[in-house]
Amino acid sequence: MLGESESRFFKRLIASFYSNIGNIAPRNIKAREFGFGDFERKIRYRHYAFRDEGQLRNYLAKEAPPFVSYSLAEYERPDGRPMEGKGWLGADLVFDIDASDLKLKCRSEHANSWVCSKCLDGAKAETTKLVEEFLIPDFGFAEKDISVNFSGNRGYHIHVENADAFKLSGDARKQISDYITGNSIMLTSFFPTLGRRGVRLDGPKPADSGWGGKLANGVIKAVNSGISSLMDLGIEKRDAQMLTRKSAEVVLGISTGNWDKINIPKKGEFWANVLKNIAIKQSDAIDRNVSTDIHHLIRLPGTIHGDTGLVAKKVKSFKVLAEFDPMKDTIAFGDSPVSIKTAKVPAFTMAGTTYGPYENTEVKLPAYVASYLVLKGFASLKGKTSKEGTV
Ligand SMILES: [Zn+2]
Repeated sequence: MLGESESRFFKRLIASFYSNIGNIAPRNIKAREFGFGDFERKIRYRHYAFRDEGQLRNYLAKEAPPFVSYSLAEYERPDGRPMEGKGWLGADLVFDIDASDLKLKCRSEHANSWVCSKCLDGAKAETTKLVEEFLIPDFGFAEKDISVNFSGNRGYHIHVENADAFKLSGDARKQISDYITGNSIMLTSFFPTLGRRGVRLDGPKPADSGWGGKLANGVIKAVNSGISSLMDLGIEKRDAQMLTRKSAEVVLGISTGNWDKINIPKKGEFWANVLKNIAIKQSDAIDRNVSTDIHHLIRLPGTIHGDTGLVAKKVKSFKVLAEFDPMKDTIAFGDSPVSIKTAKVPAFTMAGTTYGPYENTEVKLPAYVASYLVLKGFASLKGKTSKEGTV
């Protein structure tokens, strides 16, 4: 938790950031509900509304909130309450990909609240998969309707702004979420002979639409790329070795819908597990699964994340996501030196420079680096900071 003087220090940095920003108003700002957080709670106040971008910007520069969220929904009366009184008109469809939901090996090698480059790469890969393998081919959304922004900490938010998606009910959104996460997908719908003894396992072919084709293509691609790709699909080493040894036969088999080219004891469990690993990994927690909640408030792109001091930056277009560097393109604060005392911190890279590792070290770092560590809870501010404010 931040001390009082630390909170004051960061509030000044945040105020200064918001005094110099461009337009960050969401589409149809007048119809959106806004919520604001402090350093302890991401949403402490909600039911706010702003008539235009100027009014929002003045508020941000004056109040310097560590977290700014807005509603996916548009309302007739966004500041009305209770919720039923707002007059819901529709909501953007948004997905939240967070490194902590991915089964990344690195997550057991560092503190839970730490974010390493593998976490960030993993979240980016999952985001790319969601857009390229689900939103565009299976739901038919156009790339121009999809925008991606860094969450400000360890993941990405994928916004779909599309007239059809806007009107979807909570139930319809739940079905979309279930589809992309592979929940409630019936294997027998594309493995008709599954569970029948002594009968060949017939299964999907690569050209099949939806999940069947996705599974066939995913397995063929992994078989062709080798053991580690197969293990990424949750397949154990021994089975992965067997699949690789017989790769030509397996690929030919699946291409023609014959999934019985290798001997797998529990076929149902085996392929269900592979399907889960091809699916999108989203939080199952209701309060975190933003795609199903039509009243959800989500971080406003272009605003500060109070646990990192980084900007929840909008990526220019999906095409340039690969080049986007979330530890460089999102820096909000300046670089004048700030003294901190660190806890145990692994080495990390910001704006192309590598820092650390540190262990209970007193060190002077550029303000944006020092802020990152202090706000994440891995360091505390040292010395007099009360007179600084425009670093
Ligand atoms: Zn990591």
